[in-house]
Amino acid sequence: LLMLAEIYLHAQSFTVTRPPTNLDPPFHTGCQDPILNTNSRANATLVMLARNSDMDGAVASVNSVQKQFNGNFGYPWVFLNDKEWSEEFVDKVSSAVTAWSNDTDVHFETIPGDMWGYPDWIDLATARRKMDDMESQGILYAGAESYHHMCRFQSGFFYDHPALRRYKWYWRVEPSISFTCAITYDPFVEMERRGKRYGYTIALWERGKTVPSLFRKLANYKSRRRIPTTSLWIAMMDPSYLPWPLRRLIWWLRNRDPYGDLWNMCHFWSNFEIADMDFFRSSEYRDLFRFIDEDGGLFYERWGDAPIHSLAAALLLQPEEVHHFSDFGYVHSDLQYCTDSA
Ligand code: GDP
Ligand code: MN
Repeated sequence: LLMLAEIYLHAQSFTVTRPPTNLDPPFHTGCQDPILNTNSRANATLVMLARNSDMDGAVASVNSVQKQFNGNFGYPWVFLNDKEWSEEFVDKVSSAVTAWSNDTDVHFETIPGDMWGYPDWIDLATARRKMDDMESQGILYAGAESYHHMCRFQSGFFYDHPALRRYKWYWRVEPSISFTCAITYDPFVEMERRGKRYGYTIALWERGKTVPSLFRKLANYKSRRRIPTTSLWIAMMDPSYLPWPLRRLIWWLRNRDPYGDLWNMCHFWSNFEIADMDFFRSSEYRDLFRFIDEDGGLFYERWGDAPIHSLAAALLLQPEEVHHFSDFGYVHSDLQYCTDSA
């Protein structure tokens, strides 16, 4: 009986009680007059990482974002590529932007070599072998070296890219996405006004095989650095139903913390993000990224920037600093978020 009571109390301690007031209501519901929102502006940019071969998808995304939002607001665009941009990409994409607002700045930039590639402590033969192994287990993109480089760049470097350094806020746009409703207010200004630092549209369960040891390592990092537990961190966990002290003995099994409890694999889907780059530029985030990078899991496993950003937010931000854009209708590949506002 005591054992059952202990398990029950342990599981209860993972319940996040609903706060008496909504910590994160939508910034607006319904349509505003967009012109009213242009009085104050944030130091912000739209940013898209793409390959030349993503051209049609990039044009489609630009059309959607310009039509639903930026035609009224005129924020600049920065396009990033690890290779030189093709003339065709530059022509087609800049025409797509300026078709909606012809004085919008558009920048096509390449990524410096030291932000895209292996750090020198990675053993290339081991990385290749592990990538082949993961590929043969059917782990999505795991065999593609460039995908690992992309995840590393999006986790630890984009905010230091010379073209982004002058901005505080960014809105990440991927090729082949669309917004299904008009966005008639300035989300950067609202984030700033309400003390938000990270915004998302969709949260998903991560594919466990891509990150078998990520959570365990971050949870150890959290303990060693004595980072206080937020309710956001707890919301990302599932309790173990083994009695104490048995659960502590299985800490080493996939994605458990040092007490044997589990990450529930919840993460923000980072192909859409509106966030404050100064969060990523903080010494706390840089230290966390250095730890991740030195571990090697970006190459020996297939850690994505989505779980990395999400767990970092759960570790380093307060829950009320995270915003759900529940009023944005958003589509990326086979998933769609339907806006809940009228
Ligand atoms: P998914 O969303 O995880 O299925 O992957 P995507 O293929 O959409 O890639 C995610 C983002 O990274 C997109 O913006 C791609 O354009 C970009 N990306 C992926 N691989 C590369 C690459 O090798 N070079 C460049 N420049 N961009 C890449
Ligand atoms: Mn994508």
